[in-house]
Amino acid sequence: MKTLLNLPRDHKREQKGPNVSIPIPVVNPTKSMTLTYVVSLSIIALLSILVHFMLDKIIHQQKDSATIVNISGQQRMLSQRVSLFTMEYLAASHLESKEEAQKALIKLNSNHDLLTTQYLISDEIRDLYFSPPHNIDAQVIEFTKLINQALDIDLGTVEGKLPDVSLQFFEMAKTPLLESLDYLVHKYEDESIKKVNKLRLAQQIVSFIILLTILLEALFIFRPMVNKVKTFSDNLQREANYDHLTGLLNRRSFSILIDKALALSKRHQYELGVLSFDIDHFKSINDTYGHDVGDKVIQHVSNILKSNTRASDCAARFGGEEFVILLPQTKQEDCLFLANKIREIIENTPLTLNGLIIEVTASAGVSGYKKGDTNADAILKRADEGMYQAKNAGRNQVFYG
Ligand code: GH3
Ligand code: MG
Ligand code: MG
Repeated sequence: MKTLLNLPRDHKREQKGPNVSIPIPVVNPTKSMTLTYVVSLSIIALLSILVHFMLDKIIHQQKDSATIVNISGQQRMLSQRVSLFTMEYLAASHLESKEEAQKALIKLNSNHDLLTTQYLISDEIRDLYFSPPHNIDAQVIEFTKLINQALDIDLGTVEGKLPDVSLQFFEMAKTPLLESLDYLVHKYEDESIKKVNKLRLAQQIVSFIILLTILLEALFIFRPMVNKVKTFSDNLQREANYDHLTGLLNRRSFSILIDKALALSKRHQYELGVLSFDIDHFKSINDTYGHDVGDKVIQHVSNILKSNTRASDCAARFGGEEFVILLPQTKQEDCLFLANKIREIIENTPLTLNGLIIEVTASAGVSGYKKGDTNADAILKRADEGMYQAKNAGRNQVFYG
């Protein structure tokens, strides 16, 4: 017969092995788990918040970059506008041109103040403003001075050609100032791209760290956690199905097995045998040697039962010093033969303990599935009756029930 109940895999070993398995204390591992969960998820949450702030910084940086590049671009345009309107004023004496030139000059200077106070974003930009060869700050001051001089000329008093000095601003706006401001725009663009790229790289590194953290946590925190829960549930399952002292099946799991075996027997007309064993005068063993030795005798008998049943049979401790064995697809005479064989082995194998030799005998009852049996209790009851007959007949015997 194949497995009737979904028991742990080592059930077969426990049934057959000569030694009694040592009970494993079932410790609930879930207590520390919440804290571990909170800590590991908090790490990921913190890193995610960091990425959020970095993205926010990148967006702001891009906005700032666009503003700087825009203002520095305006400077280029304003220098040309100032120069052209001043030229127009000098050529045609239009007061509107003078006003336009002055307005553009004011804007040029206010932008210049803004850039030199708030947006000196790198040493290279600072050098562009305050060191040769560009010296933009000095150029803007000089340009402003020349424009103001030109705009201050009283055109009514000037006869013929204007003095050369009044046109120096035009040369300046045409080449050195224009080139420097042009260079400044490119520099601002470069610096902005560099800054954004640096932030992007940092953000990518943190995102990678998040993935790595998730992977490491899965491997070294969550997997061991799942394993712990699995071990815990395996232990609970073992506790629920097996007897602590002997490692045999307990009454609960035996009941499930015998019900299934009975259903199969009914359906396929298989034979089904049950043996019921009870240690003789066990109370006096306890009284004579003590409870601990009594336990050793129970383990000793259970080892004999395990070693003398097949993997397809199921031996269980029913309580105290009582055992049952389920023998699927076994004829009644074979059941009787096995019961007698086990009884003899128990009789002929005394327990040797610290120099003590403890003789043990057991009585057994044999029963089997009969047509009309509606449940397993009827079969177990007959096995018990056989066992009691054996007791009444003087013990260390086997009777059909
Ligand atoms: P009989 O030959 O008629 O079966 O007599 P008995 O003394 O074996 O039967 P009885 O039912 O009078 O005594 C069984 C004793 O087994 C009583 C109980 O204290 C003891 N017992 C039950 N469970 C355990 C156990 O787990 N360990 C030990 N050491 N003793 C147990
Ligand atoms: Mg008893
Ligand atoms: Mg007894």
